[in-house]
Amino acid sequence: MATELQTRPPAETDPILLSGALRIIIALFVIIPLVAVAVAIPVAWGGFLGWSDVALVIGFWALTALGITIGFHRFFTHGSFKAPRAIKILLAVAGSMALEGPITQWVADHRKHHKFSDDIGDPHSPWRFGTSKRAIAKGLYFAHMGWFFDEPQSSVATYAPDIAADKDLDRIARMFPLLVIASMALPAIIGGLVTWSWMGALTGFFWGTLFRIAFVHHVTWSINSICHVFGTRPFTSRDLSSNVAWLAIPSFGESWHNLHHVDPTSARHGVLRGQIDISASLIRGLERLGLATDVRWPKPLRLAGKLKDPAMAPRVRGYAAAVRAKAALVPVPST
Ligand SMILES: [Zn+2]
Ligand SMILES: [Zn+2]
Repeated sequence: MATELQTRPPAETDPILLSGALRIIIALFVIIPLVAVAVAIPVAWGGFLGWSDVALVIGFWALTALGITIGFHRFFTHGSFKAPRAIKILLAVAGSMALEGPITQWVADHRKHHKFSDDIGDPHSPWRFGTSKRAIAKGLYFAHMGWFFDEPQSSVATYAPDIAADKDLDRIARMFPLLVIASMALPAIIGGLVTWSWMGALTGFFWGTLFRIAFVHHVTWSINSICHVFGTRPFTSRDLSSNVAWLAIPSFGESWHNLHHVDPTSARHGVLRGQIDISASLIRGLERLGLATDVRWPKPLRLAGKLKDPAMAPRVRGYAAAVRAKAALVPVPST
């Protein structure tokens, strides 16, 4: 892909007008492959898809996607909590098995994204080529996956020296090719053993490996593309990050991306009432088990201050309790 001059994103107040045709193209690009698979399922049921395949898809999807969201993203990149060595290693291995690159490079790219966030230097801003409809379409593709082929890699020495200096993580980064092989082979091996058939190994590979990896990749990439163009922006951020509700469940809470750019170290991204954030719920579970400590939970009053519309403050989770707690600390003047 030819490199072009990067342009700054439009001011937040500028309207982002996308034609119906462009929206349809984007929907086709992201959704159609998954819909096609969903349509194929009834046809395939019993022959090319069985219960063992369903279990393999769900199991490897959860393992690897949570390895990215809880591990690579919230724990390693942003330090949202602390964890014992065994959990650290588990999260690093699980995230590596999502096949999104070695942990060192992933963290470096993502920290660079936060540093420059939709401005010149962001490795994957959808606003890179400008603000015309054509430029946004090109930018969405670039942010989704084109950047892998174009951008010089973010420097690990600059952006992720702590990860590279950790002996365990450095070893896991070096083992990345082996973990790729394991991630691709294990569903086939398990599928073959459970069904005791070559067909079980083949369908296990198709669903548990090929389909699962494509699904995890598209969801992660959608955070970089869709969640910087469409959706809502209830918080004041210096970029064009946005919240996209329909991606909340498949992305395990990562699509509350506007909040994430406003408060990057927060262990919870879905901070408004009703915003489902499965990764945050699981971090809460780890905390209760003593396997996550020093968790950086969002501070409701601080977040309320960053809302564009102050009237939305009661929608912040824990806001009323925080207001009451603050009131209890302020001495009431005697009259
Ligand atoms: Zn972002
Ligand atoms: Zn982040």
